[in-house]
Amino acid sequence: LTRMYAPLTALANARVEIMSALVSFERVFEVTDLVPLIADKPDARELPRGPVSMRFDGVRFAYPSADKVSLASLEEVAQLDNRGGVEVIHDVSFEVPAGSMVALVGSSGAGKSTIAQLATRLYDVDSGAVTVNDIDVRDVTSASLHRAVGLVTQDGHLFHDTVRSNLMLAAPDATEDDIWAALRRARLEELVRSLPDQLDTVVGERGYRLSGGERQRLTIARLLLAEPAVVILDEATAHLDSTSEAAVQEALSEALVDRTSIVIAHRLSTVRAAQQILVLEDGRVIERGTHLTLLASGGRYSELYRTQFADQQPADVTV
Ligand code: ADP
Ligand code: MG
Repeated sequence: LTRMYAPLTALANARVEIMSALVSFERVFEVTDLVPLIADKPDARELPRGPVSMRFDGVRFAYPSADKVSLASLEEVAQLDNRGGVEVIHDVSFEVPAGSMVALVGSSGAGKSTIAQLATRLYDVDSGAVTVNDIDVRDVTSASLHRAVGLVTQDGHLFHDTVRSNLMLAAPDATEDDIWAALRRARLEELVRSLPDQLDTVVGERGYRLSGGERQRLTIARLLLAEPAVVILDEATAHLDSTSEAAVQEALSEALVDRTSIVIAHRLSTVRAAQQILVLEDGRVIERGTHLTLLASGGRYSELYRTQFADQQPADVTV
C-alpha cells in the first residue's frame, strides 16, 4: 500500500512545490515595486531625459489569473495561461500633457491603483496602449522608463536590499549628499542614522522591519531623489503619522510643481488643483473635467465631493 501511495505522495509534493513557486512569484510581484519583470524588447529605445507627456489609449486590462487561482489539480496548473483573469480596466483613455496634473477619483475598487500600476508598466495592458511622448511604453527600455516615471504607492513597496540601493534605483548617479538630502526632506534622516548599518541596512520583507509610514517615506525619498519627469502618487501619504505628514506633504507638493503627474488623492485641495479630474467607476471613466465643471454638472463627482470631501477645508495643502 505504501508503495502504491508513493507516486501520489510525490505528486502531492510536486503540487506543493508548484504552489509555493507561484506564491513566491506573487510575493516578488508584491515587494518589487519598480522591478522590470517585463523584459525589454531587443530594439527597445531609450526615453530621452526631459519633459514627458503620458497617454492611455483605449486601455483594457485583466490581472493575471494566477493571483486568484486556487490550485485544485496539476492539470489546472498546466492550463494557466496567466492572462485569463477578469477584466478590471475597460477602454480607458486620457491624456496628461507634459507638466500638468490629472487626478483620479472614485470609490474603492474603481481601478485607480491599477491605472497607476499600468502607468509605470508594472503590468502590460491587454489591449490599447500606454504611451510616453507618443512612444508605446512597451517599446522603451525599462531602465529609462523607471527613471522617467516614479511611483509612490499606499504600501511603500521596497526591495529586499539596502536603504541605499532602494533609493538609488531610479537615480544611479546620486551622491551620498543627495541621498541624505532626500532622506531629510522625507523626514527619515534621523531614523536612518539610527539604523545598525545606516544606508547599508537591508530593509524589505526579510530585512529590518520598517513601519508602514517609514516604508512610505522611504519611497517618497526615492521619488525626491530621482526627480522623475512623471510623478504618480497613489494615496502617497496615507500611512504618515501627523508629525511627519505636513513636512512630507510639503516636499511632495514641491516635487509636483511643473511636473507631469497622475495623483490619486484623498484630499480635496489636491484634486481641485488638477487640470483634469477623471471619475472612475468599475474600471471606466464615467466623468471628466475640472473641479468646477464637474461640480456644476451635478453628477457622480458632486456626490463624491459631498460624501468624501465634505469635512475638508478648501485651504488644505496636501496630497
Ligand atoms: P482602487 O485603487 O480604485 O481601489 P484597484 O485598482 O485596486 O481599485 O482595483 C480595481 C479592481 O481590480 C478591483 O476589482 C480589485 O479587486 C481588482 N484587483 C486589484 N488588484 C488586484 C490583483 N493584484 N489581482 C487581482 N485583482 C486585483
Ligand atoms: Mg487603490
